[in-house]
Amino acid sequence: DGKSMNLKITDRFNQELPADESLVNQPRQVSDAAFSFVTPRHPSAPNVLHRSLEVARLIGLNEEDLESDDFVEIFSGAKQLPGTKPYAMCYGGHQFGSWAGQLGDGRAINLMEVEHAGKHWTLQLKGAGATPYSRTADGLAVLRSSLREHLCSEAMYHLGIPTNRSLCLISTGDQVVRDVLYDGHPRPEPGAIVCRVAPSFIRFGSFEILASRNELKLLEMLADYTIRHFFPKIDGSSPSRYVDFFSAVCQSTIEMVLHWQRVGFVHGVMNTDNMSIHGETIDYGPYGWLEGFDSDWTPNTTDRSHRRYRFGNQPQIALWNLVCLANALYPIVREAAPLQAAMDQAQADFNRKSTEMQLAKLGVTDVLPGDGELIAQLQLALQAAETDMTLFYRLLGNCERTQLESNPSHGLEVVQDALYEPDQLSGEVRQQWQAWFLAYGRRLGAAAMADDIRRRQMNGINPKYVLRNYMAQLAIDAAEEGDNALIEELHRLLTAPYEEQPESERWFAKRPDWARHKVGCSM
Ligand code: AMP
Ligand code: MG
Ligand code: MG
Repeated sequence: DGKSMNLKITDRFNQELPADESLVNQPRQVSDAAFSFVTPRHPSAPNVLHRSLEVARLIGLNEEDLESDDFVEIFSGAKQLPGTKPYAMCYGGHQFGSWAGQLGDGRAINLMEVEHAGKHWTLQLKGAGATPYSRTADGLAVLRSSLREHLCSEAMYHLGIPTNRSLCLISTGDQVVRDVLYDGHPRPEPGAIVCRVAPSFIRFGSFEILASRNELKLLEMLADYTIRHFFPKIDGSSPSRYVDFFSAVCQSTIEMVLHWQRVGFVHGVMNTDNMSIHGETIDYGPYGWLEGFDSDWTPNTTDRSHRRYRFGNQPQIALWNLVCLANALYPIVREAAPLQAAMDQAQADFNRKSTEMQLAKLGVTDVLPGDGELIAQLQLALQAAETDMTLFYRLLGNCERTQLESNPSHGLEVVQDALYEPDQLSGEVRQQWQAWFLAYGRRLGAAAMADDIRRRQMNGINPKYVLRNYMAQLAIDAAEEGDNALIEELHRLLTAPYEEQPESERWFAKRPDWARHKVGCSM
């Protein structure tokens, strides 16, 4: 009866469920609607592989709730809590630069919305079966992609990066086949479901689809609904409210991408349908972390020729996506200039904050003329020989300023372990590094901060532990064999990514050789 679940369910749509529920999951074009009511699929043998107590508490659940039968049934889609009306959202999107028409939640179902401690949350299952938006696909998700999403959402949160949270990872007991070949053959894989938690899952594409269909009344309704519920600082009756909304999305989006650039996160599929209007990282697919620093790197194998979503291109793509959102809002704003002004502001703010962030990673807290050159030279040196980004910045904090100025080898010795092939360093690259470290030492001299204070500051923004692809892969391999211990170990490790965790030193290491050419997979 759902009584053991202490969830306070809210209903902001206030819409009646359709009388005939038999057709609701049928794939179709859905016009003049922002969402469709659906029924989650019944999994054959749901089993909780991992859950986050922290996220449970966020939405008002306690330890007892997590252990209950209701928990596994509700968050696997087997059973609906009374008073809830699960729905899938209608949205479109620009995929890899081209308008793709109606996409929508093809394998995501908003289960319910709840309130707790003054906050409003939407709980969304991913992988709970087909919806009107599934097109020709099955609406399911495989364990490997679900596990990657569950761990990464939580890792990102604890890195201080805006993201949806993940409540739990549940295997469904059903087999799913994807067009990924193992030794030349497709193989059935275990299916799984994650429960994502966010204020809402409204996307840039939620507005684009309505503008593309010229459904302007509904576009206005959705914008007003979004502002009223999620942007309390905006005056919902002001004539400038849609521009204010756009401006807020510009700012939160560039903040999010700044964080991605700070930790070397590459989303991999920055299509406009994967962009949250909350400026939160969502839709974890073939994401990855830079290991060897490389602006051109993308974890997405389907993007290997154009590399549209490569690390160094993420800021530009965020702005490009914001242009798509501006175009979608234009019919209800009816003026281009204020939208353009918000974009220009976002671009200028990004450039300024990016320089500040790059310097902060070096332990420098003010900006001087010439700092742009110091940053540019560093990026060249980092790419001259394969250098692990996470290890490099973390080790860099161990430099002693006076040594940098007097001993040309000091810097390289300090960051030695970040180099993938330290013995192969050419004389030229060695000189390049020495020149950079000398310039860095001089710059630190101008800042005049004690070594230990600088190190502490740097360690607060240069993480020690990130979810490297091979780490997730080890957890996947073990989980497919029925062993979930590594999921728990990594989940715990990544709740404190900036802290020294001496018992976990093995995760502060370069990617092993066997993992070199492996990439994340999303399907
Ligand atoms: P993604 O690349 O995961 O962001 O997905 C792009 C679109 O395809 C979205 O509308 C998804 O909901 C949909 N989609 C992806 N995988 C599936 C699947 N297995 N079943 C149904 N729809 C899917
Ligand atoms: Mg998506
Ligand atoms: Mg946690």
